[in-house]
Amino acid sequence: MNCIYLKQKINHNLECKKQNKIINIKDCNSCKFKEYKKQITVLNQYRKKIKKSSNVANLERKRKSVFTDDLEHCILCGSKKDNLHEIFFGKNRLNSIKYNLVIPLCFNCHQEMHINKEWQEFWHIKGQLYWERFIGSRFEFIKVFRENYILTN
Ligand SMILES: [Zn+2]
Ligand SMILES: [Zn+2]
Repeated sequence: MNCIYLKQKINHNLECKKQNKIINIKDCNSCKFKEYKKQITVLNQYRKKIKKSSNVANLERKRKSVFTDDLEHCILCGSKKDNLHEIFFGKNRLNSIKYNLVIPLCFNCHQEMHINKEWQEFWHIKGQLYWERFIGSRFEFIKVFRENYILTN
């Protein structure tokens, strides 16, 4: 591996940026200013990335619902739960998970939830109302979710 100060010029001479002169590769090897690029940074970035995604996985595993303690049954029809549905899905999926704004749904209700705008709206409003009652202000909700589901006129 080469020293970070070692640059090869167009004419193939080696230049040391630290000493600002043309050098021989031998001089470089014994140089006391020799410094290597920290390859470790790439590895650390990779590790951080892994850690971040496993944090998300952890969050998902530890999911709770602020609307029910029974995560085994569909909150709508009482059948066996198939999925924990994020009330604010899409761009706010992770926010929904973070604030436990999720509901257990059976397969059929989950299918319906993702196509039925009225159902979605109902739970969006319920979710935001929960936030405003127990978590923070409307202003803070909008800051986090970038939406306001409770439209007043
Ligand atoms: Zn159901
Ligand atoms: Zn869903």
